[in-house]
Amino acid sequence: MSTEPRDFIRRIVAEELASGKVERVHTRFPPEPNGYLHIGHAKSIVLNFGIAEEFGGLCNLRFDDTNPIKEEVEYVESIREDVRWLGFDWEDREYYASDYFEQLYEWAEQLIRRGKAYVCDLSPEEVRATRGTLTEPGTPSPYRDRSVEENLDLLRRMRAGEFPDGSRTLRARIDMAAPNLNLRDPVMYRILRAHHHRTGDAWCIYPTYDWAHGQSDAIEGITHSLCTLEFEAHRPLYDWFLEALELPHRPRQIEFARLNLTYTVLSKRRLLQLVSEGHVSGWDDPRMPTLSGLRRRGYTPEAIRAFCDRIGLAKRDSVVDVALLEWAIRDHLNTTVRRTMGVLRPVRLVIENYPEELVEEMDAPYFPDEPARMGYRKVPFCRELWIEATDFMEDPPKKFWRMAPGREVRLRWAYLVTCTGVVRDADGEIVEIRATYDPATRGGDAPDGRRVRGTIHWVSARHAVDAEVRLYDRLFSVPEPGAGGRDFLADINPDSLEALHGCKLEPSLAGVTAGDRFQLERTGYFVADPDTTPGRPVLNRIVPLKDTWAKIARRQQQTR
Ligand code: ATP
Ligand code: MG
Repeated sequence: MSTEPRDFIRRIVAEELASGKVERVHTRFPPEPNGYLHIGHAKSIVLNFGIAEEFGGLCNLRFDDTNPIKEEVEYVESIREDVRWLGFDWEDREYYASDYFEQLYEWAEQLIRRGKAYVCDLSPEEVRATRGTLTEPGTPSPYRDRSVEENLDLLRRMRAGEFPDGSRTLRARIDMAAPNLNLRDPVMYRILRAHHHRTGDAWCIYPTYDWAHGQSDAIEGITHSLCTLEFEAHRPLYDWFLEALELPHRPRQIEFARLNLTYTVLSKRRLLQLVSEGHVSGWDDPRMPTLSGLRRRGYTPEAIRAFCDRIGLAKRDSVVDVALLEWAIRDHLNTTVRRTMGVLRPVRLVIENYPEELVEEMDAPYFPDEPARMGYRKVPFCRELWIEATDFMEDPPKKFWRMAPGREVRLRWAYLVTCTGVVRDADGEIVEIRATYDPATRGGDAPDGRRVRGTIHWVSARHAVDAEVRLYDRLFSVPEPGAGGRDFLADINPDSLEALHGCKLEPSLAGVTAGDRFQLERTGYFVADPDTTPGRPVLNRIVPLKDTWAKIARRQQQTR
């Protein structure tokens, strides 16, 4: 490869391929099926599948299902769907750590025979208490020097279900004085009577993550086992097991910084809590940072992959501005979706000098910057229209270029109109805005070249499609939810969802179906929600229009 690798992992991979240390790259994405995938997982997916793709290798999907208590089939299915949605294909390489339970067990007996593992009768609390600290060595277990025969006998009886849950463990026999606590005779198996989503009740001992992970990598021929930084201190143990088993294939573990996002929580425990306690409507609530939530919100896989590429890879933890994710979706939709008109907070505009029965069809390009790309639709125009209540002010400040008494504005693709006044109800509320139009300005341009600064969008009252529109704000109101030991739930933004009913859309949007994306001019990018029924759109706002890349970059600099 001639180009300089993008990051330190790609550099390692490129070097190992060049030197012949590895022949073909093989990575894996190893989710634990105990929750839905989130944007942090996307970083790992894009990295693992991306590296395999770029270097002509393979990437497996491996479910790390060693903890039967929290795992569920629902999660397995959602994970498959989400990885596929992101655009990656594991072909027939869908594996489960539980497929290796028998092999792992045989290897455990092998370690016992080599004097490198023993059955320990200490309770979990005692194991913890004899671990030592960073400054003090641990205390060897009184069971550490059992004979091979006794260890084999006890492990077999553990497996056969002769002992109660938690009464014994199998531990690696390494070094109770090791500076790295992970090497102080870590637990390999615990006794646990729990139904497993794949192995059922076949097992009552389950391997720990440390015991299962590297060996699963070795079985699958993984060359680079990419994981997040919290596993850095586990790497010596990862290597110790491979060494002790004298496995011919030695995967290499490389750590990178996990993704953290401002105004967002990415811990599965917290996400589960948000769902189970009803703070959101489900895993796919459009405010959730889960991939299913982002999908329902209207994010595209392209935008998420661009975001992951943009944030890059580092060895040091950092927090990424969530505005960067919002920028990525805007950037993708900006060049790919059609522009239409819809009014979220409608107020009636009556054009006094426009004939009652007349309907004109205005030609409006779907993609004004390049009309040929998406063509035109006809937008009906008549005497009564809906406009945004926020586009009118009776007593406007200086730079308000929209509608105000005596002021002329442009109705997008239609005419210049001049406001003549308002009609109020008995309570003094404005119920109608009145205006006159200039018939010589069809299309929106004045033949005399007079200057009209404001352009507003509108929908014909007679032809409007009624819709519900859901506007979202960030789920949390502070950049670091739960920081400083606070309960993260206390940081929930109480105004993160605003559902608007009686919104008015132009008729070309009558037939939208779930997943359709488009821009409502001046208002944002929207997607039709699965709650949409025929003729009755329910829209989610994906993002509003503002915020430039330059602004985000500046803010990101400041938070560093
Ligand atoms: P758990 O606390 O349940 O272990 P987890 O977030 O580590 O949660 P896993 O299912 O074990 O979830 O993660 C699968 C893979 O995704 C792992 O390789 C993990 O390192 C990676 N991953 C998880 N969260 C992030 C994140 N925020 N950024 C980057 N990678 C992540
Ligand atoms: Mg994990």
